[in-house]
Amino acid sequence: MSVNQQTHTGPPYGQPQPGYQGYQQPAYGGQPLPGVPHSQYGVYNGPMPGYQQPVPPQGTSHQGPLPPSVSQGLPLAQPPFSGQPVSTQRLPTQVPGFASPPSSTGIGPSSYPPTTGAPRPPTMPGPPLPVQTAAGPPTSQPNHVSSPPPPPSTLSGPYQGPPMSGLRGPPPPTHPPQPGYQMQQNGSFEQVRGPQTNYGGAYPGTPNYGSQPGPPPPPKRLDPDSIPSPQLNELPPQQKPRHRIDPDAIPSPIQVIEDDRSNRGSEPFVTGVRGQVPPLVTTNFLVKDQGNASPRYIRCTSYNIPCTSDMAKQSQVPLAAVIKPLATLPPDETLPYLVDHGESGPVRCNRCKAYMCPFMQFIEGGRRFQCCFCSCVTEVPPHYFQHLDHTGKRVDFYDRPELSLGSYEFLATVDYCKNNKFPSPPAFIFMIDVSYNAVKSGLVRLICEELKSLLDYLPREGNMEESAIRVGFVTYNKVLHFYNVKSSLAQPQMMVVSDVADMFVPLLDGFLVNVNESRTVIISLLDQIPEMFADTRETETVFGPVIQAGLEALKAAECAGKLFIFHTSLPIAEAPGKLKNRDDKKLINTDKEKTLFQPQTSFYNNLAKDCVAQGCCVDLFLFPNQYLDVATLGIVTYQTGGSIYKYAYFQLETDQDRFLNDLRRDVQKEVGFDAVMRVRTSTGIRATDFFGAFFMSNTTDVEMAGLDCDKTITVEFKHDDKLSEDSGALLQCALLYTSCAGQRRLRIHNLSLNCCTQLADLYRNCETDTLINYLAKYAYRGVLNSPVKTVRDALINQCAQILACYRKNCASPSSAGQLILPECMKLLPVYLNCVLKSDVLQPGLEVTTDDRAYIRQLVTSMDVAETNVFFYPRLLPVTKADVDSDSLPAAIRNSEERLSKGDIYLLENGLNIFVWVGVNVQQGLIQNLFGVSSFSQISSTLNTLPVLENPFSKKVRSIIDMLQVQRSRYMKLIIVKQEDKLEMLFKQFLVEDKSLTGGASYVDFLCHMHKEIRQLLS
Ligand SMILES: [Zn+2]
Repeated sequence: MSVNQQTHTGPPYGQPQPGYQGYQQPAYGGQPLPGVPHSQYGVYNGPMPGYQQPVPPQGTSHQGPLPPSVSQGLPLAQPPFSGQPVSTQRLPTQVPGFASPPSSTGIGPSSYPPTTGAPRPPTMPGPPLPVQTAAGPPTSQPNHVSSPPPPPSTLSGPYQGPPMSGLRGPPPPTHPPQPGYQMQQNGSFEQVRGPQTNYGGAYPGTPNYGSQPGPPPPPKRLDPDSIPSPQLNELPPQQKPRHRIDPDAIPSPIQVIEDDRSNRGSEPFVTGVRGQVPPLVTTNFLVKDQGNASPRYIRCTSYNIPCTSDMAKQSQVPLAAVIKPLATLPPDETLPYLVDHGESGPVRCNRCKAYMCPFMQFIEGGRRFQCCFCSCVTEVPPHYFQHLDHTGKRVDFYDRPELSLGSYEFLATVDYCKNNKFPSPPAFIFMIDVSYNAVKSGLVRLICEELKSLLDYLPREGNMEESAIRVGFVTYNKVLHFYNVKSSLAQPQMMVVSDVADMFVPLLDGFLVNVNESRTVIISLLDQIPEMFADTRETETVFGPVIQAGLEALKAAECAGKLFIFHTSLPIAEAPGKLKNRDDKKLINTDKEKTLFQPQTSFYNNLAKDCVAQGCCVDLFLFPNQYLDVATLGIVTYQTGGSIYKYAYFQLETDQDRFLNDLRRDVQKEVGFDAVMRVRTSTGIRATDFFGAFFMSNTTDVEMAGLDCDKTITVEFKHDDKLSEDSGALLQCALLYTSCAGQRRLRIHNLSLNCCTQLADLYRNCETDTLINYLAKYAYRGVLNSPVKTVRDALINQCAQILACYRKNCASPSSAGQLILPECMKLLPVYLNCVLKSDVLQPGLEVTTDDRAYIRQLVTSMDVAETNVFFYPRLLPVTKADVDSDSLPAAIRNSEERLSKGDIYLLENGLNIFVWVGVNVQQGLIQNLFGVSSFSQISSTLNTLPVLENPFSKKVRSIIDMLQVQRSRYMKLIIVKQEDKLEMLFKQFLVEDKSLTGGASYVDFLCHMHKEIRQLLS
């Protein structure tokens, strides 16, 4: 079974037996469903654990020892799909403890400047409120901000004012004490009868809401805003109250993830209903396409769009879709069907050119259809005519994917091809740096050995026996060496091009070849390359001419393709695209910091443009020992839709597993070439902004020389007219691309969203993970043009506005001192803080300029699941794992105070896996996991766990393997011993804590957000 040979014959779920037999299946491999073992990369993945490999190839001499056993991933203990109703309750969250006066500076150390200005008068005069935060059970949690109530004497102490929220005494006798410590979800809805200032409409679940103003506030209301302003500030510092918010009382990402898993993981997500919010990306669920694209292809920040632009602006909630057009699916989900409409091509709207889809309305007995995007009426071509049933539905509705499914493909006609000519199959060109460092580190030998076997696993179409992709080879340092590997040759021939100023390809015939036909010559070449350059003294490299050479070769062969460039150093040799070392960490936190993210020359932007025009995608594997200017070298990769990988201080023994796994996956993965994506929308909104790795030559078309299954494009929408609740809003993403066999295709994804006139509906249908994906990409692009601080402030401000708008218009009136978050956005502050603290926006201690440019580029193409774990890493207590079960231990929150000295934890963020070992871990566990007898003997230079035959070792390694399979990159394993110096690095990933470089803790940030919100409301 190969990645390319999967077939899906099952009918779409829940539909009356559609007869799709006539349609071909483009056989894409399935992405492993999180936690489910799956052999997508089963055929060839080299002898590494982490990827399952039924048929491991013969080991090669430079791959190091084979692990004695290859661990199989364990399935997550997810309940079978049955039973549980989907929870749709999305009610706001009140955060206890947020009853502090605005001027309070005693809420723990904060990295934010104190809010200036006096406390403001209440903006939402409301009815009498039970005190929801101040009246906790006494004495149990002395540090809690809202407890215990200070002894009465406090009130008669230095404070000569009304009692203060958060510090105040017991509530007045007329109000019974409330339990103060739990998350008070929607508590206010049940307790409050009051006015809603702007939106008088009924809010489901709050039947007593009215637009009538409520009774005037009672005189004795315990409102922090009623505190005369100067009091707290006038206190000497030591008398300022010190209090602390209980971290257990603020919204927990772990709890939200677990709740979604248990509420929504057991039922398939059926896409037939407009505007449904899908389960979280962290939930393991099955998707049934019934007319809308799967959330694996498209996720939105909100599934209910404000009807008007004014409403959208008021909320400040960005309207964006995160689109992954070629996403791989789990094996139990149906791949998009391939539809062939014959010589005339896909049926489209005459005016806006939208493709036939489930939302088109057939009229006049089926002779015409009205476009759901622009309302234009188009004749149905005779060959496509079909009668309608009594409901107005075509009788072949279920037989045609384009009428009944959210996602499908059309076979493109020659009209969709460059120069009106069907494309040739694409080519892969491997371009290997053979300068001194590359040779000396063993890298050149490693790559050559790997390619010998990897070339048998190039992407294949459907059930084709061999890949149609041709391959070529180049090596380079200051000059380039091309190789003729024509099958008729006895030995490969090398041709050197030393005039790098005007790059040309010295041979056409014999450069790009079929692997099977030229196998002997290729193997001979790969054997010879390491020997030929074994004694090289050349340390300088070129880079621009390398890409130019690949581009020229593809041009000459009249095909699209991918360059795999393995590069080690800053290209300082005299040549086009020559760079200088301009790294300067002193620019951090200055107005010039943005230059560190900008390319130092426009040469590569121009080159990228040429590459996109040819369909030449550039994948870059970097092995730097010092600064090599990722911001500049990465430009071509970025704009051609390619991938970038970086292995700083590459060492064979520690880094080869990671590199080889990445390379194997990169070479084998599904990729479309010469791609153009356009997103059409129904009247009222349009796509206005795009984020991702691509090139745009106009304002609507996203061009990518290559687009692989992991790449995501985030699209922002703006209103250009009013929307209606009845018709909703529609998106159609059309991707035109060339498959790995050279077939021209269109992949179509459709999604229908609801529209609302009530802000509450917007807030109840948001997806915070997607919002964070958008905000991170928006901010990461912002650093190219603005000082980082400006970008950070803008992010904070936008989120404060989002939450303030909710508070003002949707939440029940209650004490302004209380922080109330929309249920769907209760994690917005914690996640936003993680984005603000990320290395791009606030570099950690040892983060290099290249690291920051690299991360910036990676995040720009990440999907929602990737940004989720990248910004809020997953922390698993493995000593708590049940060795007899397949399940993962429950994750815990990313804070040092959650770590126990007696336990071992794994922390993963998609790029790294840390194994943290507490100082008091039992000797037996250490012996079982590391094979040494004490904590002090554990080597922190290990980059893999020893393979030991005991249940604990097997369990931990299987968890690691499972995590590796779920991620698109092979994560670097780092062992961290508590109190060891590496722990500093690890602690940066404990994102709820204050960071060493000044990033706020979650609690502090929440306080800060609260202040910002209150300021906006006043
Ligand atoms: Zn139209």
